[in-house]
Amino acid sequence: RSDRSIRGVTILGSTGSIGINTLDVLARHPGKYRVVALTANTQVDRLFEQCRHFLPRQAVMLDPRAAGQLAEKIRAAGLDIEVLSGAEGLNAAATHPQTHTVVAAIVGAAGLLPTLTAVRAGRRVLLANKEPLVMSGQVFIEEAQRANAELLPVDSEHNAIFQCMPDGFRAGTAASAVRRIFLTCSGGPFRATPAEALAAVTPEQACAHPNWVMGRKISVDSATLMNKGLELIEACWLFGVTPDQVEIVIHPQSVIHSLVEYVDGSVLAQLGNPDMRTPIAHALAWPERIESGVRSLNLLEVGRLDFSAPDLERFPCLRLAYEAARAGGTMPAILNAANEVAVQAFLDRRIGFTDIPRVIGHTLSNLPASRETSLDAVLSDDRRARRMADDFIAAQAPRIKQGVT
Ligand code: NAD
Ligand code: MG
Repeated sequence: RSDRSIRGVTILGSTGSIGINTLDVLARHPGKYRVVALTANTQVDRLFEQCRHFLPRQAVMLDPRAAGQLAEKIRAAGLDIEVLSGAEGLNAAATHPQTHTVVAAIVGAAGLLPTLTAVRAGRRVLLANKEPLVMSGQVFIEEAQRANAELLPVDSEHNAIFQCMPDGFRAGTAASAVRRIFLTCSGGPFRATPAEALAAVTPEQACAHPNWVMGRKISVDSATLMNKGLELIEACWLFGVTPDQVEIVIHPQSVIHSLVEYVDGSVLAQLGNPDMRTPIAHALAWPERIESGVRSLNLLEVGRLDFSAPDLERFPCLRLAYEAARAGGTMPAILNAANEVAVQAFLDRRIGFTDIPRVIGHTLSNLPASRETSLDAVLSDDRRARRMADDFIAAQAPRIKQGVT
């Protein structure tokens, strides 16, 4: 914060897909941004390479053993970078005095506390990590307003919606002239796969997305359409709308990133090539614009834009997400927790693809949600939901594996 012309940036989760795309944009603007802190879970070599290239003040690894290895490499290379570990390390990176902007790019509920720490410290927060908002949207929005922190969506759909909102719009408020939001969805890798073939799809097939290259968790979410379900809840918090004001449309080209309908019938859309560097650059520079490295959209090459309704029979995760969104309270946190457990079990080949919605449905129907949405209530129901989903998988997995159920 000392040098006002150069903005300091912390990336929480710099070794992931969003983190790498953010560094790509930052590297194009050395005179505008300075990397202050980088954090990762366990990937020592990749974080070390990023440290050598961007020379941050701090590097944090959640895992203390990995942090030890990183510190060793940094010392051997003669670099002057402080190495920290654990939750305290992530919080330190999120609130470093030289940090103006924090990019929240950790995957899953693990990003909740460091991201909230950045919000409470009044930093500009670029939200890629959607799970914390799904779990505890109310807490995030209230704390952001209290600390006067700018919350800027990086999820491509939400960034598109933000760009289509009226001048002066701030995330977490409502715009009275907005009637509806259209959330576009590519349909994922199984958009055209028949229902009976879905049970046998593998993690590799689920992670091969037609339009985006992403981390494994969000790739599976995109295949089950739970990603769109989480985005529905995310949109309700960011744009002050109800679940019934959000319409999900399948749009396989991923060129329109989402749309906003106004009361006068106008519908505004944001278009572009599917490349996360566009929303990242938008949120970094907002309200200005910077180059992102994304190539120009060739409309003639795109040729046509198609739209259809999502199939809730083949993709029950979307129905479960609508139910949790309408129920409110801690239900979205329970949905998210059960989903994280089920996706990990699928990636570990302990359950099949179509078991993912079964695990979530079981957890939603058997765990009473709380009306209260304090952080404590959310974290406690998150833990209870993980236990229940784990137990269900442990009881079912052997039968699922043998194809009995
Ligand atoms: P990823 O798996 O590629 O990267 C995750 C990052 O988080 C890595 O740097 C990893 O080291 C770190 N991390 C993982 N577990 C951690 C833990 N327990 N504690 C601390 N750090 C941890 O994921 P991604 O695809 O970059 O997605 C990140 C977030 O952004 C997700 O919430 C995802 O839904 C969202 N998002 C991603 C995309 C995309 O295109 N990849 C698009 C929209 C939204
Ligand atoms: Mg998205």
